[in-house]
Amino acid sequence: MKISKGVKIGGLQKTTLIDYPGKIAATVFLVGCNFRCPFCYSSELVLPEKIERQPKIPEKDFFKFLKERKGLLDGLVLCGGEPTLNKELPNFIKKIKKMGYFVKLDTNGSNPKLLEKLIDGKLVDYIAMDIKGPKEKYSEVAGTKVDIKKIQESIEILKEGKVDYEFRSTIVPSIHTKEDIIEMAKWIRGAKRYYLQNFRAEKTIDPKFEKIKPYPPEFLLEIQKAIAPFFEVCQVRG
Ligand code: SF4
Repeated sequence: MKISKGVKIGGLQKTTLIDYPGKIAATVFLVGCNFRCPFCYSSELVLPEKIERQPKIPEKDFFKFLKERKGLLDGLVLCGGEPTLNKELPNFIKKIKKMGYFVKLDTNGSNPKLLEKLIDGKLVDYIAMDIKGPKEKYSEVAGTKVDIKKIQESIEILKEGKVDYEFRSTIVPSIHTKEDIIEMAKWIRGAKRYYLQNFRAEKTIDPKFEKIKPYPPEFLLEIQKAIAPFFEVCQVRG
C-alpha cells in the first residue's frame, strides 16, 4: 500500500520521556503500513478499514502544537504505521527541523532508499529499526512477503553509523524461539545498540495474540546475557 497524498497524522502523544533516548519528546503517529505483523498493537494505523475511521489531525494543528511547545520539548518521534511510506515525509521533517527539534524515526526498515536520503539530508538524528525475526522467518513474522534485501540494506546503512541508531525486536512467544533471537542477534552483530522488547498482550492485529502470555523476564535476560558481547549496548525493555 502506498500513501501518496501528504502526511496523514493518525495520533499524537504530547509528551514522552521513554520513546526518544535522553530527550523529552512528543510522538506523532503516521498512518499506513506495508507489514501486517499479527502481534502489532496499532491496527488503527495499519489496516485500511480502521485507518478510514481513525480521526486525523490536520498538519496545521500539529505545527501549531509544536510552536506552542517550543522550549518544552527537545524532539519528535515519528512512528506509525510505517512513516517511510509517506512520500511527503522529507518535507514534513524539514518543517519540524526548521523549528529546531531533534527527530527520531521508527521504521520497519523496508525503505532503505528513503532512509539514506533522510540521513544524507541530515533530517533525522536517531533511527530505531525493528528486526522482526531471523531472515528465513521474516515474511512469516511480518505477515506479508518482505524483500529481505531491503531489510539487509537498511541494516547496513544504519551500521555505517552516520546517524545514531538502535535495532530492536519485539519478542513474542509462539513466534520467536530462543534460537530465533540468537539468530537475529548474530545477523546484526557489531551494531551499536540492540533492545529486546517483551511483547505485551494488548489489542493486536490478530486477536489470537491477545491471549498470549509474554515470556518471563528471566528468559529474555538469559538470552540478553548471551548476546550482549555482540553489541555496545544490549538490553531488555518492558
Ligand atoms: S508492528 Fe508491524 S504491522 Fe504494526 S506498525 Fe510495525 S511494521 Fe507495521
